[in-house]
Amino acid sequence: MRFGSYRIDIPFDKIRGNKRILLQLPAGLKIYARKISDLIEEITGSEVILSSSSCFGACDLALDEAKAVSADLILHMGHLPIPSVRVDFPVEFVNAVIEIDPERIARMIRDNIYEKKVSLVSTAQHVDYLEEIGRLLKGYDVLLGKGSERIAKAGLVLGCDFSSIDAGADAVIFIGTGSFHPIGICMARKKRVYSIDPLSMRISNPEELMEMARKLMRIRLSLVSRSMDARSFGIIVSKKVGQNRFGLARRIKRDLEKREKKAHLLIMDDVRPDLIEDLGGFDCLVSTACPRVAIDDYQGFDIPILTPVELEMVIGKRRMEDYEIDTFSP
Ligand code: SF4
Repeated sequence: MRFGSYRIDIPFDKIRGNKRILLQLPAGLKIYARKISDLIEEITGSEVILSSSSCFGACDLALDEAKAVSADLILHMGHLPIPSVRVDFPVEFVNAVIEIDPERIARMIRDNIYEKKVSLVSTAQHVDYLEEIGRLLKGYDVLLGKGSERIAKAGLVLGCDFSSIDAGADAVIFIGTGSFHPIGICMARKKRVYSIDPLSMRISNPEELMEMARKLMRIRLSLVSRSMDARSFGIIVSKKVGQNRFGLARRIKRDLEKREKKAHLLIMDDVRPDLIEDLGGFDCLVSTACPRVAIDDYQGFDIPILTPVELEMVIGKRRMEDYEIDTFSP
């Protein structure tokens, strides 16, 4: 079934029989929420409750909301499941696919990319097409990595997990939109990255992407430097089931206290500057939640917000030249 540029195959037969369904969608799909809800109610007879909270990934399941309305099922759309995240509640994941033209993409690769041993990766919207693109690339050694236990499909990358990138590849080809993933791949794997936008059919220059990655690293290192004299730290732990790194947060607290710094653990759902301000002033924050929080949202905070890896630099456990992007899997 089509919803704008998305193809969503709603599994009516599978969800039929649930009396009450909590429907959860990410921001880009929320516009279709009422239409999808009406269809489900009409076809299955189930009662549907729309989650209007933010939803950033499969890590972010609306368990509290589902329990609050006594739902029988969470229908989570727009992401693939994270296999290592297990919950004691029925959840059905439904991906939202944006159709692309594998033949045109393969042609673009053949015309522009000279490296022959390539790791092919994408996000949930296009990951289904990777095998076909790989088959069309005769003469290339196309590697589709299985990745860690957070990865549902070969070649899938998440903003928190680049483990499906094959270490033996000479270059990485990312099929998708936006620069966050390709920059993350540059920082995590230190390889040439080609990013192909399958909608506009534009291919990015690997040097430009690497320069963007270097610029981001300079910003991050300046935040590390700013944090060197910090005395009080707030360590953010996410309430979201697939972002929770409580054990790591506790280790960070112990590490800070050993160095006679003040440290407090903060549990939060969405990480927002106003909520931190309500707790009084900290000199520095460390986020063990989604790695994107510290990287994407740092400008919203008056104080540095660091990743766990960056905190290691502040306390002298890691050298500046050994910078690594924060991920959930190595
Ligand atoms: S932790 Fe962040 S990057 Fe990872 S799946 Fe969740 S929202 Fe995406």
